[in-house]
Amino acid sequence: MSYEITNIKFNSYLEKWSRDYEIYGPVKISAGGRFSDTDNIRYEKIKKVEDIEYKEKSIFSAKEVLFPVTETLFNIQEEQLNEPVYDKKKYLVFLRACDIHAIDRIDYIFLKNGIYTDPYYKRRREAIKYILIGCKESFENCFCASMGTNKTDNYSMGIKFFDDKVHIEAKDPIFQEEFKEEIEIEFTPDYVLENYYNVTIPSVEKLDFSLFNDEMWKDYAMRCISCGRCNFSCPTCSCFTTSDIYYKENPNNGERRRVWAGCQVDKFTDMAGGHSFRTDYGSRMRFKTMHKVYDFKKRFGEIMCVGCGRCDDRCPEYISFARCINLVSEKVNEDHEEVK
Ligand code: SF4
Ligand code: SF4
Repeated sequence: MSYEITNIKFNSYLEKWSRDYEIYGPVKISAGGRFSDTDNIRYEKIKKVEDIEYKEKSIFSAKEVLFPVTETLFNIQEEQLNEPVYDKKKYLVFLRACDIHAIDRIDYIFLKNGIYTDPYYKRRREAIKYILIGCKESFENCFCASMGTNKTDNYSMGIKFFDDKVHIEAKDPIFQEEFKEEIEIEFTPDYVLENYYNVTIPSVEKLDFSLFNDEMWKDYAMRCISCGRCNFSCPTCSCFTTSDIYYKENPNNGERRRVWAGCQVDKFTDMAGGHSFRTDYGSRMRFKTMHKVYDFKKRFGEIMCVGCGRCDDRCPEYISFARCINLVSEKVNEDHEEVK
């Protein structure tokens, strides 16, 4: 069931839903970017449809809603450990098809990776509903069509934005009931069939350890500066570290937090005894690439990368991850030989 609704009316729905849901969407933060004159687009709570930046690709993804940049796991009060109070709100999130697929990928890590599930992630994941923002055309650096993540049926509502109105498809009966007085229309979600750049996924069966010593990684060793922007903008990167923070006022009180970490960043592999692995940046690029297109696929049956292109958008050294995957595919397809 699909409907045409004015922005004013839709905003009154958002206000009503905000009693039960935290509503998130991509929001443009003016002058909130890396430099004082650059903007940022990241996920924030929204109150009205005009808050949503739907014309541009967001710099950070919707993963922040489920897996915040920093999160308190428990509070330390003298001898006691207490979990933070969870407010049990539900989440309504405006996001694109690739980011819905990306959350499916993160599910493997937090929910399907062994006998334990991550309770912090799980309780939010179970409380989330998606509102799909279609893509009329490809953004720069996207390669979602190559990765099969350009479309999805996994959403509660679909939305198309116009100047003063929205078109809404309500698949979830809860929302169909809400809109029963509205004007019905036809609705097909927008999605792209092709991007400006295509990527060939390397065959997992053909990949072998010989590629680990290939010369191609030396190029990345010279170009990458280990800033981690590719990791932190990626909707499928899910690594974190934990740190214990003690309060100055009373050092017997504090909290344990988990904080995003990234495999391209210095100290990621530091271990007790002063050991560290992948100290050169090329081997980090190799690790990241192999994890996204090889290890993850072998373990969970799907390529981890969803082709959103954010890593390429963000890299200050103009390193293209899409090009890197194609290079790996070329090597694999030409019966690559080990380089000593
Ligand atoms: S590796 Fe790059 S293109 Fe792939 S999901 Fe992450 S940010 Fe998007
Ligand atoms: S964004 Fe580019 S330079 Fe920064 S860590 Fe990633 S690949 Fe290296």
